[in-house]
Amino acid sequence: MKTQYVTDGVLVRPFEQTATRFLSSRFYDGRKIVDLLESTESAQLWFEVMAREIDVVNVGTVTDAQLADLRSARDLVSTVYEAAVSGDFQSAADGLTRLGRLVTVEPSFAFAGAGVDVHFSAGDSAVDDFLAELLFSTADTITPPNLSRLRKCDGPHCVLYYTQLREGQQWCSNTCGNRARVARHARR
Ligand SMILES: [Zn+2]
Repeated sequence: MKTQYVTDGVLVRPFEQTATRFLSSRFYDGRKIVDLLESTESAQLWFEVMAREIDVVNVGTVTDAQLADLRSARDLVSTVYEAAVSGDFQSAADGLTRLGRLVTVEPSFAFAGAGVDVHFSAGDSAVDDFLAELLFSTADTITPPNLSRLRKCDGPHCVLYYTQLREGQQWCSNTCGNRARVARHARR
């Protein structure tokens, strides 16, 4: 399986955690920054593709208010990641606290075919449930041992974070590695 690919205009990253995938709803496509949280339609598309490709629950219809929450949440996750990779853990913790205020967390568990299903929020809204899951995923990603492998991509124009899979990995993907080599070559 590829570590990342674009389908229907959506960047899919099967091996990353929920929070890192969600941040990847904004990405550089080789020409411009694409933002899947630009409108309720594009946000719905993002969830649809995630559901189809990597089995994330499809939240269905996204309202304007939910879109605003999703955008605020993504800004906060971005702030938390940036603080964490630069070693500013107080700011990272403050960002998590602010993210926590956006969501109502009340986990519940249910028997499911392969084991136990967890729902993170008590609300009926699948977006609330997603935001609550996002909070835990963000906290998990910036906590050791995961933190030691979290990196910001060095690729030209790239805005993605990635989980380092091997020592010395500098880019989120081969595409970014190639772009960086081309850029270095062009500078010579
Ligand atoms: Zn990259």
